[in-house]
Amino acid sequence: MKHVIIGNGIAGVSAAEVIRELDATAAITMIGDETFPPYSRPMISYVLEGSQSHAKLPIRSADFYNELGIEPILGQRAAGIEVESCQVVLANGATVPYDRLLIATGADPRPIKADGLGLKNIFYMRTQAHAAAQVAALDNARKAVVLGGGLVGFKAAYGLLKRGLAVTMLITSGYPLAMQVDLVAGQMILAEMVRHGLTVEVGVTVQGFAGSKRVEAVVTDTGRLLDCDLVIIGKGVLPCRDFIPKDRVEVDLGVVVDEYLQTSAANIYAAGDVAELHDLARDCRWVNALWPEAANQGRVAGYNMAGIRLAYPGSLSRNVMRVFDLDVLTVGNTDPRDEDGFVTVSTGGQANRFYRRLVIKEDRLVGAVLIGDIEQGGVLRALIENRTPLRLPAERLLRPGFNFGQLL
Ligand SMILES: Cc1cc2nc3c(=O)[nH]c(=O)nc-3n(C[C@H](O)[C@H](O)[C@H](O)COP(=O)(O)OP(=O)(O)OC[C@H]3O[C@@H](n4cnc5c(N)ncnc54)[C@H](O)[C@@H]3O)c2cc1C
Repeated sequence: MKHVIIGNGIAGVSAAEVIRELDATAAITMIGDETFPPYSRPMISYVLEGSQSHAKLPIRSADFYNELGIEPILGQRAAGIEVESCQVVLANGATVPYDRLLIATGADPRPIKADGLGLKNIFYMRTQAHAAAQVAALDNARKAVVLGGGLVGFKAAYGLLKRGLAVTMLITSGYPLAMQVDLVAGQMILAEMVRHGLTVEVGVTVQGFAGSKRVEAVVTDTGRLLDCDLVIIGKGVLPCRDFIPKDRVEVDLGVVVDEYLQTSAANIYAAGDVAELHDLARDCRWVNALWPEAANQGRVAGYNMAGIRLAYPGSLSRNVMRVFDLDVLTVGNTDPRDEDGFVTVSTGGQANRFYRRLVIKEDRLVGAVLIGDIEQGGVLRALIENRTPLRLPAERLLRPGFNFGQLL
């Protein structure tokens, strides 16, 4: 049996390890365009802020491929899949035949369209190479602009602030973390960012960048110039699936898979940030681009590729983060928009630095946002994940001291 895995991030690595655990003799080939040993992508923000060295990023040794008897094809991008003849076509024209194929290509930063993008010191934030280049550019930088108010945008802004730069975040939407939280929570987070020295402008669209060689200013769509020495773009991600033949493999936002992580094409699987699968809270297909999801999906794909049928229970968005002194936990569908049948209850707000919002559909909890006291987030997450019918009025769950024994 010949297994081919495209992508050497956590989803690809987890799948390879399971396949090797289950089958000592199977041939495994991994194709990856990054040549660095498999590494922790979330940790690149620690490299930017200076709390971890670049050398600490790898999660497996450089000898990983050798130890597991994997043939690595690194520094190469997969450019196509020939589904009929079961082979992957590389960018250099070479072909790699497979019996079972895993697409674990993750995501690329969502590109922006703006004039002057080619100027120096304008970075995306996805790879260890981006982090290294950002750190190298810090030397003479005093002012930075971060585009995007999502999780990655915030991590970039935080890192630059810790390095002593004056940082302005430009957010297109009305508040930060708009994909994760509702307006009340977003405004609490915004206030906390400002309290700690970030300048945050909401509702701003960037038209371009000005400068001679390196960036010297960001130009907004109203023609305003914001002086800066460095820009980081963190405007979300898009699954890496351009090389996939859409007439052979079903692709929506991500590569569509069933509960066995199998695509619509025989013997082709997908896992991680590139995969679109059933979301437990939303009850529809969704791309949840999260590290633990990628690791678990990779493992389950590995089982199925090795011939052990194992279902993935479904994916779930969740985040626990610290925004300066504010603990924030989000899980599930926290802010259903333009959809019928949802009821939301909430308590707290800006004044007491405590907020709790629960989203209920029929008799089930489907989303939660906790700010301040996040201790009961695990229980609420379990209710969402297990689709447990609520036996208490939702208002009771708003109380920090609710007795979860009553729920079961
Ligand atoms: C700054 C930052 C902070 C983050 N923080 C968190 C966090 O706190 N919590 C959390 O849960 N998640 C976080 N994430 C998201 C998390 O890192 C991803 O969900 C996870 O890395 C996805 O793993 P993956 O294996 O699916 O994809 P990836 O890690 O993207 O790996 C895919 C690999 O495939 C390669 N590839 C792509 N296309 C091709 C091709 N055509 N041919 C060959 N190779 C290809 C890519 O270059 C890459 O090396 C963060 C991400 C970033 C960037």
